[in-house]
Amino acid sequence: MVGAEEVSVPAAGNVQAGGVMNASNQHTDFTIVGGGPVGLYLAGILLQKNFSVTVLEQKKSIDKHSKSLGIHPVSLELFDEAGIVTSFLENGLKIREGIAFLDDKKTGSVTFENCPKPYNYILALPQHQTEAILEKWVNNLSPETLIRRATVRDIHQKEDRILIDYEKSENVEAVSSSYMIGCDGKNSFVRKAADIKFPGKTYPDTYIMGDYSDNTDFGTRAAVYLHRAGLIESFPLPSSMRRWVVKTDRYIEHPDRELLDQLVFDRIGHTLGEEANVMLSSFGVQHHLAESFYSNRIALAGDSAHIVSPIGGQGMNLGWLTAYQLAEALEKCLVQPGKSEQHLQGFSRQSRKIAKTVARRAEVNMWLGRRRRFPIFRNSIANLIVNTPLQNKMAKLFTMRGLVD
Ligand SMILES: Cc1cc2nc3c(=O)[nH]c(=O)nc-3n(C[C@H](O)[C@H](O)[C@H](O)COP(=O)(O)OP(=O)(O)OC[C@H]3O[C@@H](n4cnc5c(N)ncnc54)[C@H](O)[C@@H]3O)c2cc1C
Repeated sequence: MVGAEEVSVPAAGNVQAGGVMNASNQHTDFTIVGGGPVGLYLAGILLQKNFSVTVLEQKKSIDKHSKSLGIHPVSLELFDEAGIVTSFLENGLKIREGIAFLDDKKTGSVTFENCPKPYNYILALPQHQTEAILEKWVNNLSPETLIRRATVRDIHQKEDRILIDYEKSENVEAVSSSYMIGCDGKNSFVRKAADIKFPGKTYPDTYIMGDYSDNTDFGTRAAVYLHRAGLIESFPLPSSMRRWVVKTDRYIEHPDRELLDQLVFDRIGHTLGEEANVMLSSFGVQHHLAESFYSNRIALAGDSAHIVSPIGGQGMNLGWLTAYQLAEALEKCLVQPGKSEQHLQGFSRQSRKIAKTVARRAEVNMWLGRRRRFPIFRNSIANLIVNTPLQNKMAKLFTMRGLVD
C-alpha cells in the first residue's frame, strides 16, 4: 500500500499502483531500467564496486539489428579499466584512417595514428555484438542481476528508497532499491516518471544505411564523400563487411537496397549490386538533452539523458562516459549518504556539459555532409581539415578526446 511518506508516480501502462502489494523483500543498492549497452556497462562497473544491482530489461534477447558500430578510444580506456577490453579487441576491427572525398575526388585523409596509444584507432563492432560481450560480463559477475522480459510499469518513491513494479510473464513483481537509474532509451519511462523534461529538436537530415559484403579496396579505412548531392559514409565492419550511410532528401519509410545501390552509384560510381546485403534501415536525426540527469533518487544515463546525431557515431560512447561518471557519484553517495544530493547534482552538471559538447561536434559533422549547390565554402574547410596540421585536431575531435577535464 502507498504509505504516508510515499509518492506514487503515475503508471505509463495499465498496471495499478496496487501492484506494489506483491512486493518481494528483494532490495538491491541500484535498479537499472534498460539492459542496452549503457545499462549493461553501468551494471558491470557497479557490480565490480561490490554493490548489489538489478537490471530490468523488457526484451527477451538482444536485438540483432545493428545500430552503432564505432567504439571510440575513450570507451576502450573505460573497458580496459573494467578488464574487458580484450573481448572487444578480439571481435572488432581497427579503423586507423578515414579518407575524405569532395564529390568523388580524393582530397586527403585523417589518420588516428598520432592519437594517444595504445587506442589510436576507432574500433568497429556491430552494436549487438557489443551488447553480447557486456551481457556475458554482467552474467559472469552476478547471474541474478539481469532480468529479461521485465517491463517496468510503475514506481513509488519513499524517503529512503524506491519501489519499482515490473511486469514479467503477466505477473507484477517488485524490487526495492536505494537508487534507480533510467538507461531505458530515448522514450524513457523513467525520465517521464521522474518528470524530467527532455527539450530538443529534430533536424531536417535523413539517411538510409545498409551493411554489405565489402567490394571496395579501402581495406580497414573509412571513407567519407562530401558530395554536392549529399553525404556518403562507408565504414569497414568485421567479417569483410562494410556499412554504407547515404544522405537522402526525405525520410524513406520502407528502405530498399535498389534505392541505396542507386544513390551510391549515381553519386560516386561505385556498384553494390552483386554484394550480399544483411541490413537496411533509415534514420532521422534528433538532439535532446534532459534538463537534469538526476532527481530525487532517480538518475539517467545513455539515450534517456541525451540524444545526439548518429553522424559521427558518438551517442553510445557518450552514454558510457555518463555511466562511468554516474557510478563514481553513486559510490560516493553510499559512502557519504549525507552528501548524496551534492554528488549527484555535481554528476548531472558535469555530464550535461560533456553531452552539450558532443552534440555541438555532431552538428559540425552534419553541416559538413549537407547537400549543397555551391559547396565552395564547405569544400575549402574540408580541404583545410585534411591537408593541414588541423588534421590532428580533427582526429582528436573524431575520437572523442578532450571531453573530460
Ligand atoms: C543508425 C544509428 C547508428 C548509430 N551509430 C552509433 C555509433 O557508431 N556510435 C555510437 O556511439 N552511437 C551510435 N548510435 C547511437 C546508439 O545506438 C545509442 O546511443 C545507444 O543504443 C544508446 O544505448 P542505451 O543503452 O542508452 O539505450 P538503448 O540502446 O535504447 O537501450 C534501452 C533499453 O531499455 C529497454 N527498455 C525501455 N523501456 C523499458 C522498460 N519500461 N522496462 C524495461 N526495459 C525497458 C529497451 O528494451 C532497450 O533494450 C547510433 C544510432 C543509430 C540510430
